[in-house]
Amino acid sequence: MFYNLHDDIGNDIFEHKRDKANRLDDYHYPKFIKGKIKRSAIVCFFLGDENYDIMQEMIAYVYDQINKSQYFSFENDKKIQVFIAVEGMCPIDCDIKNRIKWLKQHKVKTASLVWNDNNKLACGAKSGNMPLSDLGIDAVKYLNEYDITIDISHLCEQGVYDVLKYSSKPIIATHSNAYEMCNHFRNLSDDLLIKIKEQNGIIGVVGVKSFVSNDHNLCNIKGLLLMIDYLKNLIGENNLAFGFDFMDYFGKDNSMIEGLKSCCECDELLTVLNDKYDNDFVSKICYQNVIDFFER
Ligand SMILES: [Zn+2]
Repeated sequence: MFYNLHDDIGNDIFEHKRDKANRLDDYHYPKFIKGKIKRSAIVCFFLGDENYDIMQEMIAYVYDQINKSQYFSFENDKKIQVFIAVEGMCPIDCDIKNRIKWLKQHKVKTASLVWNDNNKLACGAKSGNMPLSDLGIDAVKYLNEYDITIDISHLCEQGVYDVLKYSSKPIIATHSNAYEMCNHFRNLSDDLLIKIKEQNGIIGVVGVKSFVSNDHNLCNIKGLLLMIDYLKNLIGENNLAFGFDFMDYFGKDNSMIEGLKSCCECDELLTVLNDKYDNDFVSKICYQNVIDFFER
């Protein structure tokens, strides 16, 4: 089975609120079963100009849909166990303690301070390289206090060093690969990968072409395995996971590597992983490391 740390399904079901009210169960569930995804983040992303009302409306809707679902649950009592993840905290620009508390009350388990934008808390990797603001440092404190894991996948390098410094709890990069293997502004330097590991954090390997390889011929499963090998050699087996970041349901069929166009193909990925690696490592990277991380 797989634990997928990054899947933008929150935005997808919210966009289809009126025309496909049961999209989580009718459309996503069969695909999860086909791909053996048994646990997942349900991501709600915010690009930089959304306000707090929109954030609350989307998260409350997604929270409600999961509670109503036949198959998805926040607990381990149905077929698929999920949590809500926030990508981009631009709407949390004041009253941050109460707003973060509200996220916690709606089962948000991971949150990133920014998307690609530059907001009142921090600066995204696409927008420059700046330290966290004072408000951003406060946000780290309250995320720690409410036990919401900080996701640094979109943060600029200086911001990640700051989160490592100010966070009292281990952090997570839900969907980032190694910069040394693939030059993308969101991939992480060896130094950061090692520091995240040393703090007992998690790196979620992403399956988007531009993060897997700069070589067109390696934007496939072969390239993904080279990335996994590199990360495994650098930080070992106990801090790796997957955050695939599928986009097929947004109509972006060409963003993902060959052999991983949607979560349905995870089934075949599992076969490839089992052929190449021992059982212990396959279970660790596919789900066990994340389960252990959240339990800790
Ligand atoms: Zn993202």
